[in-house]
Amino acid sequence: MIKRNTVQKMKIMEYLMSTKSHPTAEAVYAEVSKEIPTISLSTVYRNLNTMAEDGEILKFEVGNEAHFDADISFHHHVYCKVCKNVFDLHDREIANYIAENANIPNFKVESTNLIFVGRCCDCVAPEETVQSVQSPAEMYGGLNY
Ligand SMILES: [Zn+2]
Ligand SMILES: [Zn+2]
Repeated sequence: MIKRNTVQKMKIMEYLMSTKSHPTAEAVYAEVSKEIPTISLSTVYRNLNTMAEDGEILKFEVGNEAHFDADISFHHHVYCKVCKNVFDLHDREIANYIAENANIPNFKVESTNLIFVGRCCDCVAPEETVQSVQSPAEMYGGLNY
């Protein structure tokens, strides 16, 4: 028999892998509790944090909230402070450029974990221009949301 904890963790992982939305613990709870009505928010929190500590998922904080990501490949994030969406940014060059040009005294940069904060092109005012692209999906590599 599969242990209850294992099932809970499996469902959490399943949901995380099915989405590119970088959900908060609350959002994960809202989804997973549809399948496991008895699961509690604190159980979801505990599982997410353990999984992040074990390196199975990514955890990062932006907008005063922790977000979780099943994609642990090397990538960065773009956060829209208006709609609160988090998009993936698969661009090694930006990271390399920053790492190489960051002049931090007495410190050797070995990796970066960047979150660019701003407004996505759905959220900027009409008179502002955001590069010449059509949608955030296009802008950030076409595999988001
Ligand atoms: Zn936005
Ligand atoms: Zn991501």
